[in-house]
Amino acid sequence: MNIEILKNKALEEHIPIVMDDTLDEIYKILKKIKPENILELGTATGYSSICFATKLINNNVDVHIDTIELDEKRANQAIENIKSFNLDNNINVIIGNAVEVLPNINKKYDLFFIDAAKGKYPIFLQEALRMSHKGSIILADNILYKGYVMSDYNKHKQRTAVNHLREYIKDVTTNDKLETKILEIGDGLAITVVKN
Ligand code: SAM
Repeated sequence: MNIEILKNKALEEHIPIVMDDTLDEIYKILKKIKPENILELGTATGYSSICFATKLINNNVDVHIDTIELDEKRANQAIENIKSFNLDNNINVIIGNAVEVLPNINKKYDLFFIDAAKGKYPIFLQEALRMSHKGSIILADNILYKGYVMSDYNKHKQRTAVNHLREYIKDVTTNDKLETKILEIGDGLAITVVKN
């Protein structure tokens, strides 16, 4: 297995994985802060966590990633994929609903990658803040949700997710303990630094 095969397999199966330009931006952050502990919400088939771990290990970082996935079939696929990359000592897949799993985790993380249910982003943010320290970075992918977040008109189907994504943006931009920028790359990436 190589990373291109894993990526193409996910795309063929219509599994939404982190986009190339978003990944490049995240790589810059990984290079800069060298996180040893990462929490990812939304594993899918393990593509993003395998990319992050590979990048960090190549930069001599002894990284540990906890990653949560609701869909049991995808989580098991991720576990297999992680094994085939020999990364099972670095990446721990937790099968379950992040909303239920998160309150039971009491660890500090250097980096969070929020990439699961858009309607739960404000809850995920509160949990990430609880497990953050000064200098932690919280990344939220799909924050602009195909442009719907910036649009006045949204179909009923998207409205709840859009409202929660807007709430997330408000939370990270009005909290004076946080510094946030939102990049219009991929499907939108919010980068939040915890200042204290
Ligand atoms: N991070 C992955 C990557 O780039 O390779 C892609 C993740 S995909 C965008 C979102 C995943 O989140 C899906 O596999 C979905 O099953 C999972 N998910 C959705 N809601 C969730 C929840 N409440 N808890 C955990 N996982 C969830």
